[in-house]
Amino acid sequence: MAASFKAAGWKIVPFGQACDVCVINTCTVTSKAERDCLRLSRSVKRSNKNTKVILAGCAAEVNGERLIKEGWADITAGQDVKFRLPELLQTHNFKTETKVFRRHDTTPVFDSTRALIKVQDGCDFCCSYCIVPSARGQPTSRAFHEIINEAKALADHGYKEIVLTGANLGCYRDHSRQITDLLDKVENIPGISRIRLSSIELSTVEHEIIDYMTNSDKLCRSIHIPMQSGDNNILRLMGRRYTVEQYIELIEYAVSRIPLLGLGTDILVGFPGETEEAFDNTLQLVNRLPFSNLHIFSYSKRPGTKAAEITGQVDEKTKKCRSRTLIDLGKRKKQLFAQKFIGREVSVLIENVQRNTGSGWTGEYIQAEIPVSKGNYNQIIPFIPHLFSGYVLK
Ligand code: SF4
Repeated sequence: MAASFKAAGWKIVPFGQACDVCVINTCTVTSKAERDCLRLSRSVKRSNKNTKVILAGCAAEVNGERLIKEGWADITAGQDVKFRLPELLQTHNFKTETKVFRRHDTTPVFDSTRALIKVQDGCDFCCSYCIVPSARGQPTSRAFHEIINEAKALADHGYKEIVLTGANLGCYRDHSRQITDLLDKVENIPGISRIRLSSIELSTVEHEIIDYMTNSDKLCRSIHIPMQSGDNNILRLMGRRYTVEQYIELIEYAVSRIPLLGLGTDILVGFPGETEEAFDNTLQLVNRLPFSNLHIFSYSKRPGTKAAEITGQVDEKTKKCRSRTLIDLGKRKKQLFAQKFIGREVSVLIENVQRNTGSGWTGEYIQAEIPVSKGNYNQIIPFIPHLFSGYVLK
């Protein structure tokens, strides 16, 4: 979206600064995410009455014109139009000279050293709690050659790390080509030193990716595989496509191939019907598996989803308490994982330099601060963390 404005001759200013148009790319995956976006929009409208607020993306897709009627936005832009906002503004009589922009004409811009390429959107897995199938529709994949061209352009712009993203990335298909074919091609682009994947669903191509990672020089040894619950009854109610046993089998396979694998997961706490016993099953499984990064979400009713109709909704206080327990466990597991690298060499892509300290991420997705010089920005620096070295793996 920023690239479309730049290409059309607009100036981009940091969020919060006075501006003619403020774009908020919304998320509707939880009701909290949606509320946060609307709150942001209200604060922009309060602080500058002349600013036009565009709410783009999923909340706009799901709620449509209601957001305008209720005064949250001046313009809404769903998934289809959000990459053509300068043109959209013209149709709203916003006086501006603008050039026509097509989404993939221009290299996207990012304000970090990591560049994201969205290769796929939509999902038809229909998990009972999830609004994504309504917000994003059926799975669609971008053309293979278009993605490769974008990756080459990003490499030419100096990005060293590419993150391939999608609503359900493992479903990427362009004819017979799937995500591992994309990895193979991107890996051979000069200038790209690292590749990451956003998240992979079990029951797609997870084993192929782990096998690919084992032999790859550039695919980071870090993977995010949503687990959601450690209880088979809850997984069934959620409409997930695996059992606890299959999840354990996959993780054991992954770690047997890559022992120091950075392993992230999502857990959805307080799903309707989650008893103390079911939550305890989740807690025990999280304890048992070698996770290095937990994303904890509290279940919220999304109108139009099957789960909203399930009886046995969990009260807010219990959800909060269970979330807290898992967040605390996640912090401990993250530290334990980082400690495994004491005395071993890690590589850190430096995203920020302040005085003589550079911060960034290791390949295993550990946040690190290490000694660097100013010229090390956007470089991958090898480093051996030592206890008491004064530099940290977070
Ligand atoms: Fe939603 Fe992910 Fe399930 Fe698809 S696989 S329905 S995106 S939770």
